[in-house]
Amino acid sequence: MSRIIDGKAISAQVKENVGREVAELKEKGVAVGLAVVIVGDDPASRVYVNSKKKTCGELGISSEEYALPAETTEEELLALVQKLNEKPEVNGILVQLPLPKQIDEKKVIAAISPQKDVDAFHAENVGKIMIGSYQMLPCTPAGCMDLIHSTGIDLTGKHCVVVGRSNIVGKPMAMLLLHENATVTICHSRTRDLKSVCLQADVLVAAVGKEKLITADMVKPGAVVIDVGMNRDANGKLCGDVDFAAVSQVASAITPVPGGVGPMTIATLMRNTVTAAKLQNGLL
Ligand code: NDP
Repeated sequence: MSRIIDGKAISAQVKENVGREVAELKEKGVAVGLAVVIVGDDPASRVYVNSKKKTCGELGISSEEYALPAETTEEELLALVQKLNEKPEVNGILVQLPLPKQIDEKKVIAAISPQKDVDAFHAENVGKIMIGSYQMLPCTPAGCMDLIHSTGIDLTGKHCVVVGRSNIVGKPMAMLLLHENATVTICHSRTRDLKSVCLQADVLVAAVGKEKLITADMVKPGAVVIDVGMNRDANGKLCGDVDFAAVSQVASAITPVPGGVGPMTIATLMRNTVTAAKLQNGLL
């Protein structure tokens, strides 16, 4: 039976540090603020936005919500982003994805000031992650790195396999592992013989969005398994990409869903908002 990596407990430590930093900044006269933009009424997006706002409140970060109707035009959203870029009390801007189809997500991300891009999706921040010189962390991958570190594994020379190559999870995840001297393989929907690649992994990160894609026969005994997936099973229950019950008999450490990567993503977002406030006030 593997060790369960407790994302709730680890994220609580991160948030405690963030809360302390927010209080220290307040003493220096710097208030930390996040603007959260949501377009339309996607229920999952609403849950994420509420949870981000709640966490801001707990940590002393002020949050402003901009809830726009589903028929908002690209021009209207870009105008709001511009306004928030110029608003000094807003340190971070988070535009909740996905956006309605009449709006080009790439244009919106490109419009956010890189210094306020707390999701680290802007090409400037992505480029900095690529060259290993970054301050704004990609939220979910950075959270996964904290979880991996919590196991005590030294990544140098280890084979890490990332399943999924999205811009927001798979690709930056691979980069962060590479920066720690792992040998990294990225898999995707066209990968041939996924099982044999996964079986080589000392660290296996699944970021696909398919329930039970990773089964126990795909995992090397003793591997560390990080499950980024957020899916609903046939009963509507939240589950990951990994067959948790079976894989936890093989892995040395594994993240549960819920209670693994999810809480870390929000904690990293809060850390980024503090970083953004420091950057904008010449404190970094
Ligand atoms: P995307 O849909 O953008 O990417 C999914 C990736 O999985 C693609 O690269 C795709 O390959 C690959 N893929 C699809 N099918 C297979 C397959 N059968 N074998 C191997 N690879 C496959 O998803 P995201 O990266 O945005 O998110 C992935 C999952 O993580 C989702 O469940 C999402 O909800 C969750 N998530 C969780 C977060 C958290 O905080 N816990 C935060 C962000 C995401 P290809 O490129 O070839 O199409």
